[in-house]
Amino acid sequence: MNALRRTGPLSLLYAFMDARRWRPSTEGVSVGRERPIGLYVLETGGCEGCFMEIESLKGSAFALEQAGFVCVSDPADADWLLLTGAVTRVCAEMVDRVWRAMPPGRSLIAVGACAVDGGPFPASYATLGGLQALTPVRRAIPGCPPAPQEILQALQELARV
Ligand code: SF4
Repeated sequence: MNALRRTGPLSLLYAFMDARRWRPSTEGVSVGRERPIGLYVLETGGCEGCFMEIESLKGSAFALEQAGFVCVSDPADADWLLLTGAVTRVCAEMVDRVWRAMPPGRSLIAVGACAVDGGPFPASYATLGGLQALTPVRRAIPGCPPAPQEILQALQELARV
């Protein structure tokens, strides 16, 4: 029910409200890091709910950069690939291209049920059904969609490892 409410024309508004309500603490997190961790976000064929939740992290309600992260627009500048969606067969080549463009030390993070195991879009003639059966991921963030604060907390936990 919650996932349904978040879709449609008001989804950005809901994302903003959630962000305001759930602004996480960044106390003591990654501020002393030499440089921020570069995040490249790739949507590969879901409903885009997870993609929008990640987008909302870029807003002022979440101190993404203070937490030690920056969203980049070039895979060559990225440390972590955040992938949403069930990996459609059409998108598979793009995923491979982005991954290869990233520098050594890269990590793959599945955000949302679709990216983890296909969620409501299991493997079929059109989709590969998520990353879990295809390749090792460094971190799977479950949810449909996971809330922005859950995504940020998972990234912060990963950064501490
Ligand atoms: S996990 Fe849910 S919210 Fe995320 S892309 Fe898939 S269907 Fe949409």
